[in-house]
Amino acid sequence: MDDLDAPLSSRLPRGKGNSKKANPAKFLSEGLGLETVRDLLWHLPRRYADRGSLTPIRDLVEGENATILAQVTHYGDPQRMRARDGVRLVVTLGDGRDTLTMTFFAKFAGQFQHQKDDLVPGRLVLASGKVGKFQEVWQLSHPDYEVLEDPAEGAGTVARPIPLYPASKTAPNWLIRQCVTQVLDGLDGQLPEFLPPEVVADADLLDPVAALRAVHAPRDEAELEAGRHRLRYEEAFVLQTALALRRASTAHQRAIARTASPDGIAAAFDERLPFPLTGSQRLVGEELAVDLAKPHPMQRLLQGDVGSGKTLVALRAMLAVVDGGGQAALLAPTEVLAAQHLRSITAMLGDLAGAGTFDADPRATKVVLLTGSMGAAARRETLLAAASGEAGIVIGTHALLQEHVQFADLGLVVVDEQHRFGVEQRDALRAKGNGVPHLLVMTATPIPRTVAMTLFGDLETSVLTELPPGRADVQTVVVPQDKPAWIDRTWQRIAEEAALGRQSYVVCARIDTDDEGGEDGTPPEPGEPGEFEEPPPEDEPRGQRSTPGGRPGRPKPRPAAAVSQVVEIVRNHPATAGLRTEVLHGRLTPGEKDDVMSRFSGGELDVVVATTVVEVGVDVPNASVMVVVDADRFGISQLHQLRGRIGRGGLPGTCLLLSGASEASPAGQRLAALARTRDGFELARLDLEQRREGDVLGAAQSGERSSLQLLGVLRDADLIAHARAAAVTLVAADPDLSRARPLAAAVAARVSGDTEAFLERV
Ligand code: ADP
Ligand code: MG
Repeated sequence: MDDLDAPLSSRLPRGKGNSKKANPAKFLSEGLGLETVRDLLWHLPRRYADRGSLTPIRDLVEGENATILAQVTHYGDPQRMRARDGVRLVVTLGDGRDTLTMTFFAKFAGQFQHQKDDLVPGRLVLASGKVGKFQEVWQLSHPDYEVLEDPAEGAGTVARPIPLYPASKTAPNWLIRQCVTQVLDGLDGQLPEFLPPEVVADADLLDPVAALRAVHAPRDEAELEAGRHRLRYEEAFVLQTALALRRASTAHQRAIARTASPDGIAAAFDERLPFPLTGSQRLVGEELAVDLAKPHPMQRLLQGDVGSGKTLVALRAMLAVVDGGGQAALLAPTEVLAAQHLRSITAMLGDLAGAGTFDADPRATKVVLLTGSMGAAARRETLLAAASGEAGIVIGTHALLQEHVQFADLGLVVVDEQHRFGVEQRDALRAKGNGVPHLLVMTATPIPRTVAMTLFGDLETSVLTELPPGRADVQTVVVPQDKPAWIDRTWQRIAEEAALGRQSYVVCARIDTDDEGGEDGTPPEPGEPGEFEEPPPEDEPRGQRSTPGGRPGRPKPRPAAAVSQVVEIVRNHPATAGLRTEVLHGRLTPGEKDDVMSRFSGGELDVVVATTVVEVGVDVPNASVMVVVDADRFGISQLHQLRGRIGRGGLPGTCLLLSGASEASPAGQRLAALARTRDGFELARLDLEQRREGDVLGAAQSGERSSLQLLGVLRDADLIAHARAAAVTLVAADPDLSRARPLAAAVAARVSGDTEAFLERV
């Protein structure tokens, strides 16, 4: 494996100077963060251009970063510029129907020698840049190009698909291609095969180098498919082996069995419930009770759509553990949510949460909160209550994972709505128990079975299939953001609801006008280009939106509206000016956030203008309107979650999705789907289809960027199932992988945080 971990600088030529050609390793590192041979070889093409079919120029989208395959049709004479010093060269490309120009600038005409040698009319080029249009002429600004071998040179190369990589200005496609070829050639045909021979034979896999060659430089479609198959299978198999090992090892771990007693707190709580459990709450409750009563740790995923009542199910399990003499920890993704859990759980428990007070019920326990930003005194008190065992239920954020947080007897860990709660965090909490605590992970993002198997393959699954009765209808409407009359109507809706004593949320994509976006400066959109400068082709082009006041021909994406702007609009709009309006976002202090949330849930505020801090779990039954500004920038599951904040108290709700996207765009389709259905499973499916699949898995697993680029959890369901079966067979026959050392190493590397613990075991 050493070969793969070698730095790229040791495998790529280093010439004089600092150009891309002379120092490619530096540009790959700076442009794309590619440092090692592995980084580069697993930087896979996103798609392939086919030499036979040039990119249709008229389908280009203004403002988009595009890589196109075209033919040089004209090499103009360099022209001296009038307005400023220097010369300009215009080269025209064509697709056989339309043309597009590339413009280059230099001080002297002589500096265009390069272009002159390269851009000979008739040659095929792969050109990248931002697509613009000037006086009805398509152009590529700041173009970067690569001349492809002359078709006349040899029939062999002509048919080869051309890989198009996620690239950037610093590390353009040609540079990546060139370096990949050099590195692959340098591998001398040899990379160790780490998959067991029977697996390779059974799944009919290419060897590793052949597979990489096939993916980076395929001779044809069939070879490309074979290469992809190997890489996907390898991906799936390593992951499934890791999961099979975990299942095998937890089956041997011991936990303390916990059961509710007939005269304990769990029974007392059930007696006081103001409503009957739904059928599926009862069934899942029984499943959990059976698991908790076993001397092995429960590993369970609880799925249930927004509003299905997961908290109650979890609380009943926590109380059973308290009955059994243990403690339960509830981990929430945000401070707002943790604080709300504290409020609602203490409210549900009533005097059963009053342990330590004078006239407490003898069965009562104590519920405490621990968050990262608590004051020192409160924090000390909480830590003490957890460590002494006085607190039966400890609610918190990631602060609970810190090392110095001790429990007297941690029996159950409940993880709520935590998309990024991976294997490592689970282990951190597990390490706090005497034995291994039982684990319950809750999610409102309904996960198709194959996905659950991949993401949470070491967890059993329970599903809440019904919503509590009395859920009111929520009407969802997509509001075109460029129609002032519609926007006015939106504010009027809020005012109408306030007149009826109801409340509204208004959610924005960012806090302030100088933010990049999102709650932590991260854009909320799932398809956001993120680490790559060039957005994926299936993505909504950023520059397509209208730009009031923007210069024609140079469209810029309209920035998302910020909480700070929208709150002013709400406070000053004739319809809403008289309402009690506050802001809520991640930059307020925890005390301020808590204050706003308490006042909102107490009915002292009519409107909160917030970021996605209110996305999950927030439960204010009296809220009936959800307005999402720039809804086209949010992902489906996020919007579904946001919408789940209303219609909770039996009041019909209205969800208004303000959008600047055209109906036909991917974002427009997402919104249309949301308006059409409230079925979380259907929406989750659409969401998964639209996302790059690596995102789905990457977020939930260790987040390693080199992995899971090819594996599609929906598309590859069969392959994943096959790999899972093969992995289970292998682990059953060889539980410590002693006969498959190279595989053990690959698994260890894959599950990064576990590496050491794992190596100790093998
Ligand atoms: P989610 O699954 O989205 O986390 P919650 O646990 O927040 O859902 O429950 C949503 C609301 O439904 C809460 O106000 C809760 O008190 C209420 N609820 C839960 N179970 C029932 C039930 N069986 N009957 C009526 N209301 C219920
Ligand atoms: Mg919840």
